[in-house]
Amino acid sequence: MSSVRALNQLMLLASEVGDLIELRFDCVESTELGQCLKESRRLMDSLDHPVIITFRPAEQGGKRALAHETRLQFWLFDKPNGAAFCDIEFDLVTGLASSTFAKGCLDWQTVICSHHDFVGVPVDLEQIYERMAGTPARILKVAVHADDVTDCIPVFKLLERARREGREMIAIAMGAAGIATRILGPSRGSFLTYGALETDGATAPGQLTAKELRELYRVDRITEQTLITGIVGLPVGHSVSPHVHNAAFAAAGVNGVYIPFEVRDAKSFFGRIVHPQTREIDWNLRGLSITAPHKATVMDDLDWVEPAAQEIGAVNTVVVVGDALHGYNTDATSVLKPVIERFGSLRDSRCAIIGAGGAASAALWSLRREGACVTVFARNFQKTNSLAEKFGARYENLEAARFDAFDLVINATPLGTCGQRENETPAISDQLRGARFAYDLVYNPTETRFLREARDAGCETLGGLPMLVQQAAEQFKLWTGADAPIEVMRVAAERALQ
Ligand code: NAP
Repeated sequence: MSSVRALNQLMLLASEVGDLIELRFDCVESTELGQCLKESRRLMDSLDHPVIITFRPAEQGGKRALAHETRLQFWLFDKPNGAAFCDIEFDLVTGLASSTFAKGCLDWQTVICSHHDFVGVPVDLEQIYERMAGTPARILKVAVHADDVTDCIPVFKLLERARREGREMIAIAMGAAGIATRILGPSRGSFLTYGALETDGATAPGQLTAKELRELYRVDRITEQTLITGIVGLPVGHSVSPHVHNAAFAAAGVNGVYIPFEVRDAKSFFGRIVHPQTREIDWNLRGLSITAPHKATVMDDLDWVEPAAQEIGAVNTVVVVGDALHGYNTDATSVLKPVIERFGSLRDSRCAIIGAGGAASAALWSLRREGACVTVFARNFQKTNSLAEKFGARYENLEAARFDAFDLVINATPLGTCGQRENETPAISDQLRGARFAYDLVYNPTETRFLREARDAGCETLGGLPMLVQQAAEQFKLWTGADAPIEVMRVAAERALQ
């Protein structure tokens, strides 16, 4: 909010999605501040939502430079009356706590004493908490930057400690790697979690929107008994899987949540957060989806891997079974299902796979099991040759490839994926003419350049969305034991991709 007009609109919008509203007066232009303070008082009375007032200096994450005197003036004289909470930075709280003058101006029962670190997790986080706990503030808030998902551990530990000690606390790991603390925080005792009004209106890195927290993650229903699942990859921000799985849990009445985990170092994530025998946090983790670049490397961290996933050399699903971790590959069991539904049996059909990565291996394993004759087309001779040899397939170079002799051509490369590669294709219509069926494993966008080229060449086509939904449905079954509400999952995926 930068002006009085914006303040009116935004407070109304916030009251529709939030239980509390935070007014960031540091976001207001200095020329509008006086007017905004007056107007906010009137709005607080009319909206009937508790309000948190914040006036944060730039060096602590605020929107503009604020001199020490300006901050004191704000909290002692200018702040509008009627706010339920005042979020005051730790450095100022210490000064105010020792000032006799402040006694009459501040009600400490309304004060949130906050500490922000936008660089990382301070090594003395526990000591910072102890010093903050020594102030007269009612609520303590710590927001640190998570570089890696394991940086969430000290944040969850701090929440645990505050709960043990009967302190009201807000603890958040900022950044994409810290999203789990925003979603799970309240169920671990965090006094609140912050949500932005729109995706570009976030006031801290990694902040989700209030609508996402409520409708997608159903944060107000999460308890310590909630089954936790999620997707592990780098990046994971683009994934539609949270939409698909959270919709499935809601429709099936399963008390579960599915969270994106941005993970750089899978070994340390599995050791410190996932494996029941070594993890440092106590949580009801049920399973994980694994995506690029971790599908092969996580296999070393599992106690048992199903034979198909072992042959393929990749796991896309982990299930926590008692004290152990089991690995599966639901890509392999789902990739052909939508094709067979349309095409019928693939026995003796001539199939081409473009690409030699994880999805190509899963498709190759499946096609060989169906009795198809497969040729792998790729650019990396060594990698492709050993893959083709392992599964008794042929290998050809992708450059100048022709697909007219094939019944089925599968794109298992990321070419055509939304973003920088959206206009790319591993084959153009001239190369595809004569092939019968073209199948793109890329699902975002649903309409790829490869599919357009294939249609121009007269091929029947299929995109990657049905496979995405099918492999997610199999994951749902592995985690819950119940059949997945597959139609709900398909609609959720389509809506998320729109
Ligand atoms: P991956 O393991 O990284 O493999 C990608 C493959 O594409 C590699 O063989 C790579 O070749 C090749 N490639 C990349 N850029 C290329 C280019 N410019 N020209 C030729 N080949 C190129 O990825 P993946 O896990 O197999 O996934 C591949 C695609 O399948 C992704 O788009 C993914 O979204 C999709 N997928 C979809 C589903 C679904 O449910 N629909 C499931 C899994 C995967 P090099 O080895 O030479 O780099």
